[in-house]
Amino acid sequence: MNSPLQSFITPWTYKAQVQLYLKREDFLHPEYGGNKIRKLKYIVEEALSQNKKGLLTCGGAYSNHIRATAVYSAERGLKSLALIRGEEVDNETLQVAQHHHMQLVFVPRDAYRALRENPSLAFELSGVDESEWYYIPEGGHHPLAVKGVAELVSEIDIPYHYLATACGTGTTFAGLMVGVQHYSHAAQLMGFPVLNKGEFLLEDIQSLLGETFTKDRIHYFSSEFALGGYAKTHTEYLTFLRDVEKETGVLFDPIYNGKMIWGLKALMERGFFPKGSTIVALHTGGQQGWAGK
Ligand SMILES: *Cc1c(COP(=O)(O)O)cnc(C)c1O
Repeated sequence: MNSPLQSFITPWTYKAQVQLYLKREDFLHPEYGGNKIRKLKYIVEEALSQNKKGLLTCGGAYSNHIRATAVYSAERGLKSLALIRGEEVDNETLQVAQHHHMQLVFVPRDAYRALRENPSLAFELSGVDESEWYYIPEGGHHPLAVKGVAELVSEIDIPYHYLATACGTGTTFAGLMVGVQHYSHAAQLMGFPVLNKGEFLLEDIQSLLGETFTKDRIHYFSSEFALGGYAKTHTEYLTFLRDVEKETGVLFDPIYNGKMIWGLKALMERGFFPKGSTIVALHTGGQQGWAGK
């Protein structure tokens, strides 16, 4: 696994006199490119080494994690089963999942909430045997996911000051934190939670990392560019993303990466970055998030 690093030049990066590079995680695989595969890599190794039959996970009906788990487990010879939050629906994500033989079980919202509190309910709700299935929490929030993401930092072979990512569960951010501690003396992290008031994610990140968590590596972590919540958008924002695509050929999804790039641009215009700064931003994929926009 080694995703390309691409220079990304626009009138606003030029004006701010910064260098922006994209680490194209979305190029890792046509179907599940992005950070989800990094997160699943060691989880799948672990499940295989424990002779598990399959992966059991959970998520919303539009979850990229569900899609990636289905595709990757099929490739690696594991079965997959997902508990999907809410009433039965049909959409592209779930069709792709089922095409890769993922079994879906729809779970009422209150039961799903209980599952978040008590992961062992996953086995009851799905009816599968705990000794045969490996459980992955929502969004792949798992210590082995951190290990997989950390590796990508070792692939960045230029000097840089800042490493940025969009954050959903914060697992990717946690992986980058471990990665910079291993592979970069100086790089500072920037996180763009895509949820309203997403700063709470830092607590989840801290509990995932334990003593590896260090505030000194965090330069910026704010949901000021979340546009009011998960999947919330507005016309100016969507137009901006379409214009960026026209100018640069790079399409950012509106749910995750779009918010990061919208935020990076605003920060550049605000003079946040010293002139001459080099920023590496992850492109985590998710372009299917444009469906229906
Ligand atoms: C899941 C996802 C994220 C968020 O990753 P976390 O590790 O949950 O923070 C970012 N971008 C895309 C495209 C995703 O699918």
